[in-house]
Amino acid sequence: MMLPYDMPPYRPPSEAYSVLIRATRGCPWNKCTFCGMYKEERFEIKPVETIKKDIDVACAFYGPNVKRVFIGDSNSLVMKPKDLIEVLRHLYEKFPTLERVTMYARAKTVRRRKLEDLKAIQEAGLTRLHVGLETGDRYLLEFIKKGATPEQMIEGGKKALEAGYELSLYVLLGIGGEDRSQDHALHTAEVLNAIDPHFIRVRTLVPYPGTPIFEQINEGIFTPASPKTLLEETLTLVENLDVHSEFLSDHISNLVDLNGKLPDDKPKMVTAMQEILDEIEEKPELLETYFKPRDYRCL
Ligand code: SF4
Repeated sequence: MMLPYDMPPYRPPSEAYSVLIRATRGCPWNKCTFCGMYKEERFEIKPVETIKKDIDVACAFYGPNVKRVFIGDSNSLVMKPKDLIEVLRHLYEKFPTLERVTMYARAKTVRRRKLEDLKAIQEAGLTRLHVGLETGDRYLLEFIKKGATPEQMIEGGKKALEAGYELSLYVLLGIGGEDRSQDHALHTAEVLNAIDPHFIRVRTLVPYPGTPIFEQINEGIFTPASPKTLLEETLTLVENLDVHSEFLSDHISNLVDLNGKLPDDKPKMVTAMQEILDEIEEKPELLETYFKPRDYRCL
């Protein structure tokens, strides 16, 4: 299909009804071993005038009564603050009913930005940041080449909150593989507890051909977590969370749909996970029903 203007190729599921605007192309980091999203794309910050023209076309295409916008690609927070503010002002001018503008950002970029710049961008209308934590485990963060330590993840997350953003943190279940699953769950809970974000969104690792982690599996360096390990990991994660966050499994890659508002729903969520684990202890063949074919989960 011919797109009416340059749109980002990826957006979070929660932005399914958002107008998509592309301010940058690709990922300025592009090293995470599990990620194949922008491997073929050379990183580029688009000129402000080009982005504004895209916004004009989007406005002509969708009309001015838009409530949500998502800005891609993977980390447009690397733009000069004054340029990003100019883009945001243009967005609110063209879409006067806008209520929410969000983007992906790296924790390390948030951490590096001056607090006053982050606040100025937030005041110009960027309301929510989607940040990939993936894991809070120090060894794993290095192993997957995430480019940030647990301390830097915490610093970036807290700074985003201090600047007034809604913060959505993404956790990658299974990234510890079979061997480091419990460390992954426990240390991730520690980092999440230290940040206390608005949203915790879990996804499950699906190794894609062409990514370094896929090669590591073939070479025997990384053993993917079994379905039972993934379910136990999820239980450990939830059991150890001490946050005031919305927990969402809003992705097709997950084995179970576990959602709730923490801390109130934690007992229900823990019980639900325990019941599933008890059930598969009795009838191991049921594991198949939780482990949908990988082909479907890659969609
Ligand atoms: S996970 Fe995010 S930061 Fe890492 S390479 Fe992919 S897009 Fe870039």
